[in-house]
Amino acid sequence: MKRFQTLLTRTFLFFCIILSVIIFQGCTSSSNPSLAAKRYKMFYDTGIRDLEKGRLEEAIGNFSDVPESSEYYQKAQNQIEYVNQRLDEKITIEYGTIYKCTKCGKVLKKFIKQKNCKRRERANFNINEERASLCPDCERSEKQAEFERKKLERQAAIDQMKRYEQGIGPEEVAVTRINISKWESGYTAGENCQFVAMGINVLNTGDSTTHANPNYFTLSTPDGYTVNPDTDTTYGLSRHFDAIDLSPNSYTYGWLIFHIPIKDYYILHYKTYDSSVDKKIIPQNI
Ligand SMILES: [Zn+2]
Repeated sequence: MKRFQTLLTRTFLFFCIILSVIIFQGCTSSSNPSLAAKRYKMFYDTGIRDLEKGRLEEAIGNFSDVPESSEYYQKAQNQIEYVNQRLDEKITIEYGTIYKCTKCGKVLKKFIKQKNCKRRERANFNINEERASLCPDCERSEKQAEFERKKLERQAAIDQMKRYEQGIGPEEVAVTRINISKWESGYTAGENCQFVAMGINVLNTGDSTTHANPNYFTLSTPDGYTVNPDTDTTYGLSRHFDAIDLSPNSYTYGWLIFHIPIKDYYILHYKTYDSSVDKKIIPQNI
């Protein structure tokens, strides 16, 4: 019986020891000075690694985590001072705009410039700002297409000019020749003006005789400035447009010269008592 009691006591003591070891370890792990020191050293070492890789802001963050109680505190503070000095260093950076071509999707840099600034100012530059724009290749092809479109438009306008056009009344008007100049028959055009000489057809499509007359023609600028045929130059021409009666299905042809301000286009009006034709005139030699 005594042997059994001794065994029980021994077993109890054994468990007590085990338990105390567990409790002792459990209590000390949170305040173990060597473990805390290891953690602070880790902050410091991470800061050094950040520094080596040029991550200056992150380095400052890690050095700042080292508390006063740590033996690395002073070293960390020295590093913070050093990093702050580096952040104040002047460096040359490139800045500009990165954009995507809206047509082909190519990503390009635009307006790249260099600027001396402090390292800490770097983040202020909009290096990644995207702008809607065309790349040089697409811009060139767009311009070429625009040029071709204008050329076709102009050609269509010239073709239209050459065709007979009817307004109100039986007469149809076509302009088959144009000659632009600064001098006509010894006369010089005024400042910002030019002579527009036109070979004009008038066709009578009606079933009775009509009268065609050079005085029925006027030429207007797009903003409405209107002139009569220039008598000094027009009537010096051997084939000037002359007054004539047109029997049904007959036409006449002759030249008229207008002295008018230089513009991109004009409107030629043909107006009788009961007829009216307006024609767009492109001032180009044809
Ligand atoms: Zn493009």
